Amino acid sequence: MGRVDIKQLTKRYNEGSKEEVVAVKDLDLTIEDGEFLVLVGPSGCGKSTTLRCLAGLEIPTGGSIELDGEDVTDNRPKERGVAMVFQNYALYPHMTVRENMRFGLKITTDLSGAELDEKVEWAADLLDITELLDKKPKELSGGQQQRVALGRAIVRDPAIFLMDEPLSNLDAKLRTQMRTELQQLQDDLDVTTIYVTHDQTEAMTMGDRIAVLDKGELQQAGTPLECYHEPANKFVAGFIGSPSMNFLDVTYRNGRLEADAFTYEITPEIERALENAPTELSLGVRPGDIQLADPAVENAIPATVEVVEPMGEVSQLYLDIGGSSYTASVSGELRIDSDQRLHVVFPPDRIHLFDRRTGRAVKNRESIDENETLDSHLVTPE
Ligand code: ADP
Repeated sequence: MGRVDIKQLTKRYNEGSKEEVVAVKDLDLTIEDGEFLVLVGPSGCGKSTTLRCLAGLEIPTGGSIELDGEDVTDNRPKERGVAMVFQNYALYPHMTVRENMRFGLKITTDLSGAELDEKVEWAADLLDITELLDKKPKELSGGQQQRVALGRAIVRDPAIFLMDEPLSNLDAKLRTQMRTELQQLQDDLDVTTIYVTHDQTEAMTMGDRIAVLDKGELQQAGTPLECYHEPANKFVAGFIGSPSMNFLDVTYRNGRLEADAFTYEITPEIERALENAPTELSLGVRPGDIQLADPAVENAIPATVEVVEPMGEVSQLYLDIGGSSYTASVSGELRIDSDQRLHVVFPPDRIHLFDRRTGRAVKNRESIDENETLDSHLVTPE
């Protein structure tokens, strides 16, 4: 079993001094048994500190951590049934792969030599590193070393895996491959995993759920698609998704959204959402949701193309709208040149509106169409 309850977790460094840092603030988060939770946020937001508190490597300033209902806040790392995998692998250079994987087990359990060997060989087989067992770390590639580090965690049969940016030292191709392998492995082993990364792509693709942190505070916990389509606030909206969501300052006045460069007529749905909302808002629209339009279309906004970045399937357009820069993703088959003038629309069912002062989401895009079944997308015979 491996359910984790983090309650009001706070960690301050250099408490009481001028250099005091609040690394984690009042964090409440439950991770269910077998769940793959990704802690994501920009550098310095408190991800590693949270993980280190879970591992028992840092003592929290306040709050508690429970594993399967038992308070382990003051337990030593060894007593927690957690195994941690680090970015830098942390393998012993003078030991072989077999010894590296065996060592931790040997000192924390009283398994016989034969049992230790059996476990190491089982994990090596699972990770496809059997032929590396008698090599030293320096003879291995980065990807192989990371597998050994994983193997060392797996043999310990932990209730919880804690992973701190384990893929960030690998090149892009290997990273993508290991991402899939790790997910598969976590699925097979069904061990609760808490995975730290600053990379929103990793978070989106790997997590059952993601928890987005900023400045030590939880911004949102939800499935990747919830965080993407229904961000709780402007921070999450801007952090999740690549290229990032565009934001424009607008004022809700006379039943419309007014910006310096345009006015936006709203639909009854948006009007309802704005009933008790403040007037100073930030309008958010994802690059892929911006559409090119005829100037006669309602809410068409004039834009000038600053730069075209062809990516193949899509092209990223950097657009100047009223002196500010915005990104739009359009079909790569369109011929568009820099300096070209065109019009765009932000479809009303795709826009997000945030309270400009607090950042809180006032209205998110309309829900994903549940009727979009696979059948309606299949190629069918003529
Ligand atoms: P992340 O993993 O999200 O990059 P960290 O948890 O490492 O963030 O750090 C959160 C904040 O705590 C940062 O401002 C960092 O500088 C500070 N911090 C982390 N470790 C220490 C430490 N040992 N002493 C003082 N400040 C620290």
